[in-house]
Amino acid sequence: MSSLQIADRVSYLQESYLREILSVASRRDIISFAGGLPAEACFPLALLKQLERSETVPGYLQYGGSQGLDILLDVLRARYGLTGEQDILMTSGAQQGLDLVLRTFVNPGDKIAVEIPCYLGALQAFRLAGAEVCSLPLLGGIPEEVEEVRLAEMESLLRQENIKFFYAIPDFHNPTGGSYSLKMRQAVTQLCEKYGVFLIEDAPYRELRFTGESLPTLADLSPQQCLVLRSFSKVVSPGLRLGCIQAEQRVIWEIMKVKQVADLHTQLPGQASLAGLLMNPDFNQHLQRLRQEYLCRYSAMHSAIKRYFPGWVTPCKAEGGMFIWLDLSCEAFQQAFNGVDGRQLAESALAKGVAVVPGSVFYPHQQAGVSFRLNFSHESVVNIDHGIQRFSLVLEQMEPAI
Ligand code: PMP
Repeated sequence: MSSLQIADRVSYLQESYLREILSVASRRDIISFAGGLPAEACFPLALLKQLERSETVPGYLQYGGSQGLDILLDVLRARYGLTGEQDILMTSGAQQGLDLVLRTFVNPGDKIAVEIPCYLGALQAFRLAGAEVCSLPLLGGIPEEVEEVRLAEMESLLRQENIKFFYAIPDFHNPTGGSYSLKMRQAVTQLCEKYGVFLIEDAPYRELRFTGESLPTLADLSPQQCLVLRSFSKVVSPGLRLGCIQAEQRVIWEIMKVKQVADLHTQLPGQASLAGLLMNPDFNQHLQRLRQEYLCRYSAMHSAIKRYFPGWVTPCKAEGGMFIWLDLSCEAFQQAFNGVDGRQLAESALAKGVAVVPGSVFYPHQQAGVSFRLNFSHESVVNIDHGIQRFSLVLEQMEPAI
């Protein structure tokens, strides 16, 4: 029997260390800060129960249009304040949105600029598409005085390389939790317009702002040069697998050809339920409760890190989303633990019953320094406190370098 060879492009996909951790992290005895899971206690179950069961409506059991269910498309156009030029394509989560965009527009060897560290699912999608990833340092969640330098680096890359897309997560970045300032949003869209680079704005966490002021999307500032990937995983439920692409009609039409090949259309019963949920006036209250709960969990994690870790550890601040970035790459760490890497620390944490993701997972190339992505949305406030305390013991019990 001849052996079945995988396609070359698939061989570039690496086994995901994150998937390995996540399979262990789901054990009951583990406190998990590893996944990107929403709080189950906050799923809008009461609102869903009020809906007519859409899976018993014959029309929703039939094949449907590739763009999406008409009633839902109308609700979303109104929700996002779309003008006549812009439109929506329903997808099976933002992840499918990204895959479809890449399949529609990217040839092997095309260049995509991304900030590093970067959402792993995006890095994998770029690999599968055969794109060349061009790394930039973070543009969001950075001190104001560093912004100019970072923008100059971005401009220099766009000037030198023929970049097709710039992939950005301007609101509550995965993995770092940081967001672009207004100035950064304006500068990035202007640079992309100047160099003819199209923007992919990945916005799954945008509606999870629990503090600070909401800022315009990149697409608000540059509607012709930008498409937005939206997700209902974080504000409704990931199991529903619903997201959408917002872009100019001409762009949507091109992507829709590929959507037809991929899966004909996104499942209708879920789209009908989502339309019903979004039309319910109580949905806003659900969002507010969700944000309130995440603020509590975020604050619990932030203050637990301050309480249990050594004084030189400063967790990054976030104004929303699901993650805190813990960067230990400072001189104090180097002096105390020279040669220790993030994976080692994550493994020791797991042995103590806490799952965390080492930051190196989110870098396309070898990375120096030790950092972690900590998810605060899934565990209760009590577990967050216990988990951070246990995690801090890992550092405390490490053998110092000297
Ligand atoms: N983009 C980012 C930045 C994400 O963090 C995620 C999910 N973790 C996705 C896209 C995929 O979202 P969805 O569940 O809608 O496919």
